[in-house]
Amino acid sequence: MSEAIRKIVIAGGGTAGWMTAAAIGKVLGANLDITLIESDQIGTVGVGEATIPTLLTYNRLLGIDEAKFMSAVGGTFKLGIAFENWTDVDHRYIHSFGITGKDHWTAGFQQFWRKGRELGVAKEFGDYCLELVAAEKRRFAHLPKLGLNYAYHLDSSAYAQFLRKMAEDNGVVRREGKIGEVRKNEAGDISSLILDDGTVIEGDFFVDCTGFRALLIGEALGVGYEDWTHWLPCDRAIAVQTKSVGPPLPYTRSIAHSAGWRWQIPLQHRTGNGIVFCSQYMDEEEGKAFLLSQIEGEVLTEPRVIPFRTGTRSAHWERNCVAIGLSSGFIEPLESTSIHLIQRSVMRMLQMFPQGSVASVDIDEFNKQTFFELEHIRDFIILHYHLTNREDTPFWRYCRGMDIPDTLRHRMELFRETGRTFRANDELFAENSWTQVMLGQGIMPQSHHPVADVMSEEEVRNFLSHIDENVRRTVETLPSHEDYLKSYCPSSQSIPE
Ligand SMILES: Cc1cc2nc3c(=O)[nH]c(=O)nc-3n(C[C@H](O)[C@H](O)[C@H](O)COP(=O)(O)OP(=O)(O)OC[C@H]3O[C@@H](n4cnc5c(N)ncnc54)[C@H](O)[C@@H]3O)c2cc1C
Repeated sequence: MSEAIRKIVIAGGGTAGWMTAAAIGKVLGANLDITLIESDQIGTVGVGEATIPTLLTYNRLLGIDEAKFMSAVGGTFKLGIAFENWTDVDHRYIHSFGITGKDHWTAGFQQFWRKGRELGVAKEFGDYCLELVAAEKRRFAHLPKLGLNYAYHLDSSAYAQFLRKMAEDNGVVRREGKIGEVRKNEAGDISSLILDDGTVIEGDFFVDCTGFRALLIGEALGVGYEDWTHWLPCDRAIAVQTKSVGPPLPYTRSIAHSAGWRWQIPLQHRTGNGIVFCSQYMDEEEGKAFLLSQIEGEVLTEPRVIPFRTGTRSAHWERNCVAIGLSSGFIEPLESTSIHLIQRSVMRMLQMFPQGSVASVDIDEFNKQTFFELEHIRDFIILHYHLTNREDTPFWRYCRGMDIPDTLRHRMELFRETGRTFRANDELFAENSWTQVMLGQGIMPQSHHPVADVMSEEEVRNFLSHIDENVRRTVETLPSHEDYLKSYCPSSQSIPE
């Protein structure tokens, strides 16, 4: 290809398709023809309702008004994820989005906290984190000066509708129809998509957002799939929506069970529930029965089975096609990272948008950056499964005993011996996330940094109690999450009949 890109075709209109369309429309819509094809007959995966704080950046770049957005998607605020029964049955911790305590430039807060534990003057690690304590007390407000770190729970179909309106306002044209054929030119690039009614949609550049089907990147261009199920063995989910039974929690619940885990995602108008499990250890009927026995509130939808295979495409950009969303791979939803990865791919694609014809250096750079990001997230998710005391079922015995990537082994050993964590380059999960999850999953570092010994016992006590008091005093000033939602962004969604 030597001509400048003029016609963009986005195949698929789930969260990935519409996030892509809204962003390209906003940034380049004035100069490009952008068409999105989706099929109501096929529908979307219909899950993906918990996010992480990076979505605030995407929304800001698109100029989205937060209160209007929250209201449209029946959204609630999310301060973290509660992990129940992961380390041991009846054990619970929260991985919050906040920063815990106060670091010194030589050493993370956990080094001082560990010294405090040794002296018997430190409370639980999470007590020194504003977001975590606010989550436990079910309180929330925007705190501009302190910068409370939060994300959203949202209704995924309402979110797609919200983005669709934005995209169409910026000139994106939606075509309803089922893609039956992907046509390529002599060079092997994609040239057009043929709908079942015979309509030909031509393009210069294609974005594959067709979900697990991966019609363009997988089927047409033959890009392979790297399977990660030996590290992340869950391969089925069942999703069901219920009426809420109480005020929405400002955090996601992730509750481990005998062969995986289940989620509870509180929205303003309903609750999203689901179970993730490994079919080798639990069959679908068992999974369904277990899920229905655990959820609270009237069931609003038929339980829906979603098979998946954890892994990644071996290339995310191939020729004139970029894969975004489930077509590009899937790391299971434990830390709500998929929508983040969509956002990252959309932003990266726009940053590397062809300046003329498609350049192979751009393709290489795009794929390199995407892999780096994915592998770090993958390691972080494996950590939750592998670092457990549970041996009560074959599933957990497998996870405890399985081989893990060397990169992860190194992090665990480093933390176990020294309490140190680090953030490699620009990876998603920062030091505080690794610390919270490694402590939560049961590693207590064997030693602490010598800088903590420079402080006397009294200094350590005062340092810790000062942070603790500040956290508690601030949380006392916050309204309840429920009251805040009602005044800031009451839902415009209603419970499905
Ligand atoms: C069980 C589970 C739980 C999850 N939970 C979370 C979470 O909490 N947080 C998070 O960030 N992510 C989560 N995810 C991931 C999240 O759901 C997806 O990343 C997100 O929904 C994007 O999906 P998608 O748009 O790629 O695919 P889909 O929603 O499947 O959309 C595919 C689109 O392609 C269209 N299409 C397909 N084939 C054709 C064809 N032949 N012709 C025309 N159109 C076609 C479909 O109609 C549809 O519009 C979860 C995923 C699973 C499986």
